Amino acid sequence: MTQARFAASLFRSVTRRFTADVETRKLRLYYCLSDSQAMPRYLLIGVLIALSFNVRADDSLSVANLARIRDAAMHSDYAYKELAILTDQIGPRLSGSIQAQAAVKQTAAALKQLGLNVGLVPVSVPHWVRGYAHAALVDYPGRPSGVLQRLAIAALGNSPATPKNGITAAVLVVHDFDELQLHAAQVRGRIVLFDAPFDQNLADNGYANTAYLQVAQYRFNGPAQAARLGAVAALVSAAGGGDDHLPHTGMTVWTHGDHRIPAASLAQADAALIDRLAQRGPVRLHLVMTSHRLPNVQSHDVLADLRGSSEPDQVVIVSGHLDSWDLATGAQDDAVGVVAAMGVAAVFKQLNLHPRRTLRVVAWMNEENGLSGAHAYVQDLAASLPDHVAAIESDNGSGRPLGIAADILPQDAYSLASVFTALHPLGVSVFTQLDQSPGADIAPLAAVGVPGFAPLVDTRHYFDVHHSAADTLDQVDPENLRRQVAVMAVLSWWLANADILTRLPQSAAEAGGD
Ligand SMILES: [Zn+2]
Repeated sequence: MTQARFAASLFRSVTRRFTADVETRKLRLYYCLSDSQAMPRYLLIGVLIALSFNVRADDSLSVANLARIRDAAMHSDYAYKELAILTDQIGPRLSGSIQAQAAVKQTAAALKQLGLNVGLVPVSVPHWVRGYAHAALVDYPGRPSGVLQRLAIAALGNSPATPKNGITAAVLVVHDFDELQLHAAQVRGRIVLFDAPFDQNLADNGYANTAYLQVAQYRFNGPAQAARLGAVAALVSAAGGGDDHLPHTGMTVWTHGDHRIPAASLAQADAALIDRLAQRGPVRLHLVMTSHRLPNVQSHDVLADLRGSSEPDQVVIVSGHLDSWDLATGAQDDAVGVVAAMGVAAVFKQLNLHPRRTLRVVAWMNEENGLSGAHAYVQDLAASLPDHVAAIESDNGSGRPLGIAADILPQDAYSLASVFTALHPLGVSVFTQLDQSPGADIAPLAAVGVPGFAPLVDTRHYFDVHHSAADTLDQVDPENLRRQVAVMAVLSWWLANADILTRLPQSAAEAGGD
């Protein structure tokens, strides 16, 4: 899409401000609709568009009705109660674990209790087990005799174990892939440390995802690149913010035929410590890890339908992913997304609302280390995909909602005006046009043309807790969760009743994971 096309088609009389946020192969355009001059005219446009919908026999799409849905969400603690069950009671939900299976049962039962029609999509998931991890510096310049410095580490998902007695080897510190190649001849037999600190300044200024991807590239691809050059193990500085001395786990990627080496995340402070010591002379590290992979396990996506009143075959998905990493209880990543989606159905039920189209709550399995739930869905339900009219996924934490991100055609953006009018009192006023799926689990749906949406939330502190031992219930502000349910409920209602948005051009399925 081009900026010129936007300018021609969107909010013609509204003052616009564009900022480009160039991320890895992405261009995002932010429409700041809360601009003080623009807002009154914007509101007017919103009302006019909303009124035009009222030509229909009912007023279900009026701003007043959308506001009623918003207010019901803001007065409900349903989602927070479900969040406490998934996190405090069920716990970490790594694919293949007992807790992940318990979460499937719990979510299915809760959605049934709401009166929805519940189904399960079978998913074969990897069963990787973290085991035990220990790392210590055993030699470095100036070390007092007999002293070991213990390090804060966590195995990366998919990492194999070390030999039983561990690995003791010299550490090679690099800061990027170019430096790794520059020192390629020194890699063999060593432990490679990628020390690339998370840029909190970017996160503080609205570019948290950029900051994350800058660091996470070493977590995704660093161990495999080091292994190809003969490294015996790989460590990466934590891909996240926060000054809490915590490692942040996550996927590392191996390609077929790679010799897999033990790979772990190090707390940023420990990565920086090794970097400083290595500038003084040789550093040796002892590493013991028992992580390993077991045979795949049968798991499930949970689906729950609130059947459409007049177009039941047409489906609007509202979703989050049920699995989580295992260092904490996955409160923000992504129990919040699942319970916010459940909260949408709870609000509709509470108000006795019957959408035209079917609202389908989906709790995806295995987003974190395989995305197999998302792929199983599009395979199992292939015949019905042409009737999927939109998909929402919340998977960016529980920060305060600021707007909506959408992978839709630019000419369709204007039709969301009444949604923004209804949500403006919550401070939800930014529309972000994306040219890729806003959620990993709904990316395979985008690839077959289904427009995608996500709540746009404040992520400046999301990566403080993301994939770390700090992702717990106490970090979730109940008011922000209510706001998120409100955004998703108003948007879901609109998508389930308004005119169908244009389908996206079909593309190759995007792989992903976070
Ligand atoms: Zn997630």
